[in-house]
Amino acid sequence: MKKPDVVIVGAGSAGCVTARRCAELGLKTLLLDRKPMEEIGQKVCGDEVSKAHFEATGIDYPEGDEISSVIGGADVYPPNMKNELKIRGWAEFDGWTVNRLSFGQRLLREAISAGAHFIPNVHVGGPMMIGDQVTGIEYKDLMSKDIEIVKSKVVVDASGFAAVIRNKLENPLIEKNIAKEDIALCYREILSLKMPLAEPEVARVFLGGEIAPKGYAWIFPKGVQEINAGVGITGGEGRGSPKSYFKRFKEQYPLLFGAKLIEGKGGAVPVRRPLKSLVGDGIAFVGDSALQVNPIHGGGIGAGMRAGVILGEVVRGAIAMRDISANGLWSYNTRYFPFFGQRLASLEIFRRFLQAVSDDDMNFGFERRLLEAEDLMAANRGDGLSLSTVDKLKRVKRGAGRISLLMKLQKAAGLMKKLSKLYSNYPNSPDKLDSWEKSVLDIIESANFE
Ligand SMILES: Cc1cc2nc3c(=O)[nH]c(=O)nc-3n(C[C@H](O)[C@H](O)[C@H](O)COP(=O)(O)OP(=O)(O)OC[C@H]3O[C@@H](n4cnc5c(N)ncnc54)[C@H](O)[C@@H]3O)c2cc1C
Repeated sequence: MKKPDVVIVGAGSAGCVTARRCAELGLKTLLLDRKPMEEIGQKVCGDEVSKAHFEATGIDYPEGDEISSVIGGADVYPPNMKNELKIRGWAEFDGWTVNRLSFGQRLLREAISAGAHFIPNVHVGGPMMIGDQVTGIEYKDLMSKDIEIVKSKVVVDASGFAAVIRNKLENPLIEKNIAKEDIALCYREILSLKMPLAEPEVARVFLGGEIAPKGYAWIFPKGVQEINAGVGITGGEGRGSPKSYFKRFKEQYPLLFGAKLIEGKGGAVPVRRPLKSLVGDGIAFVGDSALQVNPIHGGGIGAGMRAGVILGEVVRGAIAMRDISANGLWSYNTRYFPFFGQRLASLEIFRRFLQAVSDDDMNFGFERRLLEAEDLMAANRGDGLSLSTVDKLKRVKRGAGRISLLMKLQKAAGLMKKLSKLYSNYPNSPDKLDSWEKSVLDIIESANFE
């Protein structure tokens, strides 16, 4: 393709959805990935995605061989494995464990059918620049070893955690370094169980410092006798690898005894609020490269798909208005942050709260039901933790003896509300970003629950 309007680096879920939307809107769209075409979609992941993301974007639900399991609930276990929280009957929890490869292949097909041109087997090395303006990319053809340059009006970095373009940009609008404690290192296995699952529509999540320090272990059904199970931990070095935690978990949890390994691999996912700005001059970020991931559970498929649809529309508008600077692309920020972005950001506070709760307090909290399923749902929905006065009194009674835990919960609820408000007033131009960011960082810094 000669002189595309937009080049999208990475054909993961976020890149494919962005490419599809750009092409649908008539843009000359080039999508690149270092993988061969038949491997697009393959990814170390928990493979869970909720229905709500499809409803929000108009993307067709997974069907046929894209579905490994239909999910309708979850059991959340505290460290002592007693008094688990059973989440059932919440529509927003409905979803699927998908076959990542089939699902990814479908998203790619949809992008190509909409008119995007796809080139596999190319390693994108970095951006082409004129001053601060990104004007294209440079890539190496992994088959011929040739180096190519592609010029475009807008570049989209959808390269996932690698963020191959973002990491090469020097611009105060663009964040480069992500703190270790905001990254979850994961290890997951696909396992065939000795016995069928009793509830193949229920996901299981396990909390606690012994199982997964500042993270969690999961068992997600993939059919009646196959599972996707793993461990994600955050906080940087000195704790052992996620693989070693998973090994221990596997030796201790009876369901996994004697399970046959189909595949095991490690991966990483950011678990922070999204980048302060999703755009720069001639450049936009989507998916994991934009840190568009739910900080509580590390789910990023839906968050990236939602952003991709908006981004396609914004790129089209910016090109039509002949303003592809950060200013011209800014409405991606103002359309994402006050809504879905706000939800992700406030969950960073909740993540910080959960990470600071000791195993003992966590066990107590589950026993006394200091957090109910509806609290988790409301927090995830972006409604914060709305502890009403009546509710507070009831919880104070149930939480007698651990007032400090309740106070921390109350503090988290307050900070989540404050941060949400700030995000709903996201600045309408780049020049106001600094003071807004300062207010965000003040709240994040005070989200210390140790
Ligand atoms: C262990 C684990 C479990 C998870 N579980 C879930 C879950 O259950 N549900 C959920 O919603 N999310 C989950 N996530 C997160 C989810 O996988 C990501 O948020 C999501 O896949 C991000 O999509 P993306 O398109 O941004 O990036 P990716 O899917 O990573 O796609 C990026 C693409 O860019 C390509 N690329 C990278 N660098 C280059 C380069 N230099 N040149 C060319 N191409 C390049 C890659 O080949 C890849 O195809 C999990 C993550 C991990 C690690």
